[in-house]
This record gives sequence, C-alpha cells and structure tokens, in this order.
Amino acid sequence: EVPDFNTLAVECVAGPGAEVLARVPGLPDEVFAHDGRMTKREVRAVTLAALMPMPGALLWDIGAGSGSVSVEWMRAAREAQAIALEPRPDRRALAAANAAALGAPKLNIVPGRAPEALAGLPAPDAVFIGGGLSEAVVEAAWAALKPFGRLVANAVTLQSEAELMRLQAARGGELVRLAVARAEPVGRMTGWRPMMPVTQWRLVK
Ligand code: SAH
Repeated sequence: EVPDFNTLAVECVAGPGAEVLARVPGLPDEVFAHDGRMTKREVRAVTLAALMPMPGALLWDIGAGSGSVSVEWMRAAREAQAIALEPRPDRRALAAANAAALGAPKLNIVPGRAPEALAGLPAPDAVFIGGGLSEAVVEAAWAALKPFGRLVANAVTLQSEAELMRLQAARGGELVRLAVARAEPVGRMTGWRPMMPVTQWRLVK
C-alpha cells in the first residue's frame, strides 16, 4: 500500500508512528499535560471557533488552567498572541509545559486573579472566561475588548450557569449548551459516557 503524501511527509520528518497535530483547534486531550479540569476536545473546538483566532490577534484567557485554549489560539493563526491568567502555580506550570511542547513558546502566563490582575493588560481582540466568572470580570473584559472583539464564557456549575443567564438577559448575545458523550467500554460492550454539560455565552462587541 502506498501512503498518501501527507503520511509520507510526516514519516520522513518524524519517523513512523509520529503524531500528526492539526492547526485547526480540537487537539486530542492526551497531547496536553492536565489535571482533569481542562476544557475537553469537543468543547474546546467550539470555544475556539467562537473566539475566532486571527493573525496577530490577542486573546485574554481568564482562568487559563492548563493553557489549552491559549495554546490552540496561538497555533490557529499566524502571530496570534495570548495572555493566560491563572492564580494556581501548579496549573501555570502545566500551561508553560503545554505552550513549550505544542508550539506556543511565546504564551504570556500571568499569575493572579481576575478582575484585579486584568488592570493594565493590553487590549484584547477576544476574551475567554473559563474560570473566575463574575459580573465584575465581564465588566472589566468588556470595557477592554476592542471593537468587533469576541467574549466567550463557559460554565459547568449551576451557579456559574445562573450568572451566564443573568449576563445574557442584561447584555444580549447567545447561550449554547454543549453536551458531549464519548463511546467507552462497558464490560465487553460499548456505552455512551456523558461528559459534564457546558453552558457557553457568546457576545460580539
Ligand atoms: N480552560 C482551562 C480550564 C480552566 S478551569 C483549561 O483548558 O485547562 C478554571 C480555572 O480558573 C482554574 O484553573 C482556576 O484556578 C481559575 N480561576 C478561578 N478563579 C479565577 C479568577 N478569579 N481569576 C483567574 N482565574 C481563576
């Protein structure tokens, strides 16, 4: 069997069995170092689509955790920049490892909590709120966001979902619920393993 050109190119450069990683967001969860709190593949792909990476554009990734959203943002468009805000040192270390391993060495990892730590940061083209959601954080992000900038917030708890409902009622935008199930072994058979549903709020300035 003759491998296609792409397979051939990968094998020539990296040897047989090399991992092929697309620039299009939605990298497999396994390629990231993470502690379980990471935004999972299918939700991450939809989140990046809503954030709309563009050449040279700056993302604020608030509650960056393992940095998966920032890393995919920086891979997706030429010269794309990201600021990953994360208060936990263990998660900042994961983000640094992922940025280095996955082709985003210029990721700017900032310690601290929103909204305080947002003061003085350069104005973003897109903001993702993956942790620390509050009215004050949205207010600060919205004020800093450039015209036509995108704000995307994900919630997994009932409390943060309720906050998203209040925010959408007050400011508009769209609410989407993402419920993903993956097929996994159940004994010798296969069953759907549901993942925690994610509520997503999207708003364009
Ligand atoms: N998108 C991330 C997952 C984030 S989990 C990933 O793919 O890995 C939410 C994160 O928000 C946690 O790491 C938590 O430490 C952080 N967080 C909580 N409150 C915060 C706040 N006020 N400001 C910034 N980050 C916060």
